Amino acid sequence: MSSPTKTSSPTTVITNIASLVTNDPSLGWGSPRSSKFESGGSSPLGLIQDAAVVIDGDRVAWTGESSKAPATDNRVDAGGRAVIPGFVDSHSHLVFAGDRTQEFNARMSGRAYSAGGIRTTVAATRAASDEELERNLTRYLREALRQGTTTMETKSGYGLTVEDETRALRIAAHHTDEVTYLGAHIVSPDYTDDPAAYVALVTGDMLNACAPYARWIDVFCEKGAFDGDQARAILTAGKAKGLHPRVHANQLSYGPGVQLAVELDAASADHCTHLTDADIDALANSATVATLLPGAEFSTRAEWPNARRLLDAGATVALSTDCNPGSSFTSSVPFCIALAVRDMRMTPDEALWSATAGGAAALRRTDIGHLTPGAYADLAFLDAPSHVHLAYRPGVPLVSEVWRRGVREV
Ligand SMILES: [Zn+2]
Repeated sequence: MSSPTKTSSPTTVITNIASLVTNDPSLGWGSPRSSKFESGGSSPLGLIQDAAVVIDGDRVAWTGESSKAPATDNRVDAGGRAVIPGFVDSHSHLVFAGDRTQEFNARMSGRAYSAGGIRTTVAATRAASDEELERNLTRYLREALRQGTTTMETKSGYGLTVEDETRALRIAAHHTDEVTYLGAHIVSPDYTDDPAAYVALVTGDMLNACAPYARWIDVFCEKGAFDGDQARAILTAGKAKGLHPRVHANQLSYGPGVQLAVELDAASADHCTHLTDADIDALANSATVATLLPGAEFSTRAEWPNARRLLDAGATVALSTDCNPGSSFTSSVPFCIALAVRDMRMTPDEALWSATAGGAAALRRTDIGHLTPGAYADLAFLDAPSHVHLAYRPGVPLVSEVWRRGVREV
């Protein structure tokens, strides 16, 4: 029954959208440069009021005013809701087992966060079956999808043996294209007395086994994890294997992570909580995105990253959840947007841009994070007339419908 020629896919128009966020630079200040965000009162979001979107197969074919929409096979009435691009969550750790409720409870009772708590999750993850890890992963991906996330990066990093890191990535690769090898999350507890031998493993046998399943390589560059020289060796070895770098940088203290990320053309420096002026300059003058993860500061009661300083310097900023069982157990991008607006002084427009187009930039993707013709038809409907409600109505489940690749999934 197969046809020798490509069959045309049905087209669908979504009409009666109160406000459509396209992130189309030609409709406003689409550039990530914040000075442009602020001048002239224009939005970076390429907003269209009383809008329609036409979807052809898995792609956006047309956007514009409802009254000008072309004829299509199917028609959906948005009922005056806002429509935004699906969130691009460029930083999560979802291949894990176990739970760290007690650690969170103790921390909220006054104990500080350190990199060491990761060992608890490593022990639980090693003990878990493949089925258990996959069930956990799909549960949190589904939870994120219900909240509007249509692309999610995720990492290994709770196995820390050749076998356990490889299976984490193999499982992750079944569910997302954005898979990151993080054998260098912490020094494996099996190598506490010989960190150099662990770095040799991460850059040798473990890398060889993991590289086929991953697109990215990451290092936790921090006191108690890996120093600048170790991180450089690990990322450089990954690059030689065809993996592109991203870095956990400057989260708990000042350090070399951001400069290293820029030096190696990493797609993203993640956390960026403790930055010098030189770190900000380096980010602003590079293609490395500063990915801010306010769920981590919220959940560890830590100082917020200074988003204003980064934006005003002209750095590209992404906003992600860092969803993980230890330091940020939220899969909610809307929650992170509310934190970024309330506590990190981002405007509602900047925060939404960073959680969509910014996340796409942090994954070096041009086919997601916006709703211009040719992009994947990944979008979320809000039970609200405007995206501003994401921060204006914190904690309210406003995402009422989610489409991915042109198909309604929520
Ligand atoms: Zn992380």
